[in-house]
Amino acid sequence: MKKICKHLIPAIKCIFDFRKEPLRFPWRNLRTQKVSPWHVSIGEILLNKVNTNRVLIIYYKLLSTYPTPCELANASPDKIEHMLKPLGLQHKKTLTLIEVSRLLCEEKDIEILKQKLKKVKGIGKNTYNAILLFGFDEPRPLMDGVIGRVLKRIFGFNWKKRFYEDKNAWNFSEQLLKCSIKNGFDPKIFYYNLLDIGREICLHRKPLCKQCSCNAICKYYKSKEKLSQASF
Ligand code: SF4
Repeated sequence: MKKICKHLIPAIKCIFDFRKEPLRFPWRNLRTQKVSPWHVSIGEILLNKVNTNRVLIIYYKLLSTYPTPCELANASPDKIEHMLKPLGLQHKKTLTLIEVSRLLCEEKDIEILKQKLKKVKGIGKNTYNAILLFGFDEPRPLMDGVIGRVLKRIFGFNWKKRFYEDKNAWNFSEQLLKCSIKNGFDPKIFYYNLLDIGREICLHRKPLCKQCSCNAICKYYKSKEKLSQASF
């Protein structure tokens, strides 16, 4: 483990160097902003397959109409579905939001609550882990399209296109998580920054490598540089 961590620390550090304080989205738990597991859960459910800016408007609308888990749990599904329409997958997301809100309204035993959340339809492994990590401070690895893209490029991996279906991608994320914790890095900030690098800098088509805090160690960037030097 010590040897593996030594190899991973430069990547963990450059991800931390991206931003000392990650962006303050209203569903994020940060040093300067504390939110409940319910706020985290709503953010994570809405963010599924949608970009952050589109989620922000709906998130505020939803929270101003239903400010507590119990109110959302008892809301009319049709009304919520109508509100979520601009995001797509509105029917599925409505049912998941209502069920998660019901559990957070009724279940007072945290351990039982976590077990029940795992079984909610529409909560996949990444969403569940994100709720546990960001909402309950329980260290869990994450893997989605954005995180997978950044890590694949930095380390030059040959992962499947759907990263969340790749066992190697999940195992690697877990190793990074363990090494972050072992070396005193906050895993929440680690994953928030990783997500922000993927959304703002390590773009799908044209990554903005010159602005990236990981370009000194990134295999993708190095191979691109080599190619451009060879063409002169
Ligand atoms: S250097 Fe470029 S390819 Fe590598 S992580 Fe940064 S933005 Fe992505």
